[in-house]
Amino acid sequence: MSSEEVLKCSLCSEPAITNIRYAKLRLCKKHFIEYIQNKVFKTIKRYELIKNGWRVLVAVSGGRDSIALLHILSVISKQLGFNVLALHLDLGITDYSRRAREVVESFCRSLEVPLIVVDLKELLGVRLPDLVIRSRRPACSLCGLLKRYLINVVGIESKVNVVVLGHHLDDLLTYVMKNFLLQKLNDISKLGPKTESEGPLVGRVRPLYEVSGNETSLYVSIQGLPVVDGVCPYKVVGSIEGEVRKFLDSIEGRNPGIKIALARGIAKNIEFYKVGLRSNVGTCRYCGMPTSGDVCAFCKLTEKVLGSSTGPIVRSKIKEVVSSYR
Ligand code: SF4
Ligand code: ZN
Ligand code: ZN
Repeated sequence: MSSEEVLKCSLCSEPAITNIRYAKLRLCKKHFIEYIQNKVFKTIKRYELIKNGWRVLVAVSGGRDSIALLHILSVISKQLGFNVLALHLDLGITDYSRRAREVVESFCRSLEVPLIVVDLKELLGVRLPDLVIRSRRPACSLCGLLKRYLINVVGIESKVNVVVLGHHLDDLLTYVMKNFLLQKLNDISKLGPKTESEGPLVGRVRPLYEVSGNETSLYVSIQGLPVVDGVCPYKVVGSIEGEVRKFLDSIEGRNPGIKIALARGIAKNIEFYKVGLRSNVGTCRYCGMPTSGDVCAFCKLTEKVLGSSTGPIVRSKIKEVVSSYR
């Protein structure tokens, strides 16, 4: 085979821009874009993530993964018959959040996708860095708590059918392996292609379940999609996740396709990981959101660092913000 042939797309005579080893395909720009959109389409069908006639809430941070996801969904939503509503959480992380918000606002305008912006400063009068100082908790743990709570509240108040998250194959497998190493088996049950709704909580789906981080990045760059530049100043380097990711990449390098096989296996065995899992049985005595205790984590946090549980105020403010998007 000549080098000229090697560089050709497997599906046409255009030059290949990537070699997808697990699928034994070299693809040109056009066929790569179609391949990824089709893969997400099939993932939605395979795991029954989104149904015809649904309204879905897509959480968009402004990073590569959520930007790629929003773009793909805006294309395939027409074929699958669902409506997309975007959500951006502005946690006030220095200049990084300002740039991310600008990217998301302008991208949603260009796609003509309605966007809900939830601004932490407007809700609580403080930004994430203030909460980090006052609570002395790690930024990423606070960020995760706030995001979970705010997404859940927006999901409920906007009355969408499902919340869509931009976690891709590499993110998910990394968390799965980390939880396995720490033997937090119940946590693995929340890392499948979907997490069912529970009481008033809206379910979550992950249509990039079988799309790798590299594929997401390539999709964004060849489509020229806008993403926030730089990284969050709180990002930790050299974490356990980084080590696990290298390990998974090395196995995939020698066994193309093993990551997708593992992801499918986890999806198949998801009930196994739920054994003994306590569901959120109660509701928070302040804000009424589902919680396993008497007071939810958000109300506990705000009571501790702001002097009162602000869950009820946050819920009513969000209700007002989303009322025009219902
Ligand atoms: Fe949040 Fe941490 Fe990610 Fe920054 S690095 S966006 S603080 S989770
Ligand atoms: Zn081609
Ligand atoms: Zn609460």
